Amino acid sequence: MSRVFNFNAGPATLPAEVLEEVRNDLLDWRGCGMSVMEMSHRAEPFATIAHEAEADLRSLLGVSDDYHVLFLQGGATAQFAAIPMNLLGKDAHTDYVVTGGWSAKAADECGKYAHVGIAAQPQGKIYTHIPARDTWTLDEHAAYLYYCANETVHGVEFQYTPEGIKCPLVADFSSCFLSRSVDVNRFGLLYAGAQKNAGIAGLTVVIVRKDLCGHAQPITPRVLDYQVMATAGSMLNTPPTFAWYVSGRVFKWLLNNGGLAAIGARNARKSKQLYDYLDSQDFYTNPIAAADRSRMNVVFTLADKTLDKAFLDGAKAAGMVGLKGHRSVGGMRASLYNALPEGAVATLVSYMQEFVRTRG
Ligand SMILES: *Cc1c(COP(=O)(O)O)cnc(C)c1O
Repeated sequence: MSRVFNFNAGPATLPAEVLEEVRNDLLDWRGCGMSVMEMSHRAEPFATIAHEAEADLRSLLGVSDDYHVLFLQGGATAQFAAIPMNLLGKDAHTDYVVTGGWSAKAADECGKYAHVGIAAQPQGKIYTHIPARDTWTLDEHAAYLYYCANETVHGVEFQYTPEGIKCPLVADFSSCFLSRSVDVNRFGLLYAGAQKNAGIAGLTVVIVRKDLCGHAQPITPRVLDYQVMATAGSMLNTPPTFAWYVSGRVFKWLLNNGGLAAIGARNARKSKQLYDYLDSQDFYTNPIAAADRSRMNVVFTLADKTLDKAFLDGAKAAGMVGLKGHRSVGGMRASLYNALPEGAVATLVSYMQEFVRTRG
């Protein structure tokens, strides 16, 4: 068996240890004679899996009792609608910071339900930096301020949690969830689709302050109503049981490997190694402002884009896949999620150097 270095943006690489555990559990989970896929979500074995996952996530992130942790479906995209439906209140004003494709989509969806104020967005929608905090224009009637902590497509990441926001702060952490420490108490709500950095497709984790729940618009589908889902333990209907279980194994893996401080340091080293190389030469270019560069999704272009295919083919031959940039921006993207080993970045940098030597 040989596993590739998988730079996919999502669904994405998982820790080999987690996959091995899943394989070992597959036919018979802890002696109960069936796989997790075959269990009733209402029966005891799955209750154990579900509770352990929540407890481990709370401990990893330091989530207090003031917050619900919900295990939902519909992907991050369902949250683009669920957030306004649950949090609007009476004024129906919201503020969005638009720094790339994902926050743009979220703002667009919110427009169906509310007045959307654009608190900040780069000129010309050129998503290569985050507008400085002191240039944002905030609506004093906004029910919440929304931003995307890491723009997966454009490779732009907040290195800080915005300060001085009077309304609840809401953030999409889909592609940087559990990639470093974060103070959950600064947020009204944060959420992440699991398939980038915390598991497999089908599960979305929502962490929401309890006092913000219970005020959903009457039209809110019950599966998207945070209070309804919290009361039901995220089991109003059948939850994505297998995805929930896999995320639980990922949370344990993180806890057993030093938690978020340790993984954060490792992620900083991995991305620095690649950015340092990109900055040291002029065949490859990363267009992102240095202070806003993503540690998870590193985008770059080749000086001659007719070489893109040769670059990707060569990478594949060398055991590296998933480096093609998103279709909307082109070029390359290396996603360096938690489970990507440090050796993968070293291998990529050597390959890039070799490619310049032979083709550049
Ligand atoms: C992938 C992604 C989404 C969309 O996730 P789905 O689960 O496909 O709906 C939203 N936001 C960010 C930041 C993402 O990376």
